[in-house]
Amino acid sequence: MNRPQNITIAGSGLVGALQSIYFAKRGFHVTLFERRPDMRSNRISAGRSINLALSDRGFRGLAGVGIDKEIAEISIPMYRRVMHDVQGNLSYQNYGKDGQAIYSVSRGGLNCKLMDLAEASGVKIHFEERCTAVNLETGTATFDGPLGTHAVTPDFLVGADGAYSEVRNEMEKRPWFNYSQYYIDYAYKELSIPPNDDGTHRLEKNALHIWPRKDFMLIALPNLDGSFTLTLFFPRKGELSFESLDTIDKAEDFFRETFPDVLDLMPQFREEYAANPASAMVIVKCFPWTWGDKVMLIGDSAHAIVPFYGQGMNCGFEDCSVFFELLDTHQGAWSDLMRSYEKSRKPNGDAIAELALRNFIEMRDRVADPKFILQKKIEGRFSTLHPDKWIPLYSMVTFSHIQYSEALEKGDRQEAIMQKILALPNIDEKWDSEEVENMILQAIKV
Ligand SMILES: Cc1cc2nc3c(=O)[nH]c(=O)nc-3n(C[C@H](O)[C@H](O)[C@H](O)COP(=O)(O)OP(=O)(O)OC[C@H]3O[C@@H](n4cnc5c(N)ncnc54)[C@H](O)[C@@H]3O)c2cc1C
Repeated sequence: MNRPQNITIAGSGLVGALQSIYFAKRGFHVTLFERRPDMRSNRISAGRSINLALSDRGFRGLAGVGIDKEIAEISIPMYRRVMHDVQGNLSYQNYGKDGQAIYSVSRGGLNCKLMDLAEASGVKIHFEERCTAVNLETGTATFDGPLGTHAVTPDFLVGADGAYSEVRNEMEKRPWFNYSQYYIDYAYKELSIPPNDDGTHRLEKNALHIWPRKDFMLIALPNLDGSFTLTLFFPRKGELSFESLDTIDKAEDFFRETFPDVLDLMPQFREEYAANPASAMVIVKCFPWTWGDKVMLIGDSAHAIVPFYGQGMNCGFEDCSVFFELLDTHQGAWSDLMRSYEKSRKPNGDAIAELALRNFIEMRDRVADPKFILQKKIEGRFSTLHPDKWIPLYSMVTFSHIQYSEALEKGDRQEAIMQKILALPNIDEKWDSEEVENMILQAIKV
């Protein structure tokens, strides 16, 4: 198939909006259809701030359309994790080397900016238009909304319509389309800490706060207005779960006992706990990600993952930058582009899905473990001495563009080495010795 001219994208979320800008900047004619109303028209009354951690892969996606610096300006760098124990004691872990940070950015603010830029690049966005059906052979999509029920047949259709994608739904009905959906047994609830009266933050601003409690955790990310968005990741059912905390009094008692240093910072706890839902987290895997030369999936519609590595959006933005790099490589040979896109991205989607699940255990349990803290110190020292030989897994995922699949593989090898090192007698005393350094050097060679 020749290079298409007219592109329709279902879903103007983070990934659909970014991809539309990429297409428009390369001379394609792009129309976006979004199920929700235009969030920019009630930007001020949008209510709760929800934020996301943006890291290097996401910034690379934004840099491809020249807005990385603009977005960095409306983000808050978080240089370290601050862990809060049950007694309210704090401990710290830097995320990377000096100056390396992940960035807290408002989901709504970022989405609004991307849509502003999409329109400025010539993209037409139709709101309250829900994709209800797709013909995969022709690329025809049917939408329901203010325009009535109507069908559009672009040259090329993109499903950027998230984890519950309607475009993917059509593919699921076909043979040789592989699909799996898995809900983890946890849910999440968003709460908040408002700013101090003078607009400052009530906790350390440039950090991601974690209250690790073994089977569950609470995290907090800062917002520009001085508030923090908190997310409680908690079992859905069971002895201690969202189901068992079935009154506000029980929830408040639980917070007072389990997160004693935070409840006093949350004057609206009772209202928020009652009002905000406990939402599900789903992992979606599928293949192929394209249908003939007419339809593709991108972002969460192709690979929804759990949020514990802060990589879902980052991975979706990387899909965009990789797709357009491949477009250049294949110089408009559309079929080749389709096959290369899904072939290169699918193993990475699978790898980050696995890494994200594992990171839940790390965040809720291991970060508070002295052995884990020691492991981080040994890895940090070794990678500073031998940056060409060892990049910690977290840094590969967060601060590099190494393929996720390669990061997973290398990370497993490094973990096996570290477990042997940690098992050495008196490792607490000699962790920064030449002997340990040489043992790691030896182990890498094998
Ligand atoms: C609690 C939580 C925390 C997270 N934290 C992070 C983080 O820190 N860092 C990170 O990188 N990622 C994070 N993520 C993941 C991130 O939110 C997603 O990966 C990202 O939003 C995916 O973008 P998307 O555009 O593919 O999908 P979405 O953001 O879901 O956007 C899809 C869009 O399509 C629209 N749509 C849906 N169906 C239709 C239809 N039938 N017709 C038309 N339009 C439709 C929707 O209204 C929406 O606007 C988090 C996720 C959760 C749940």
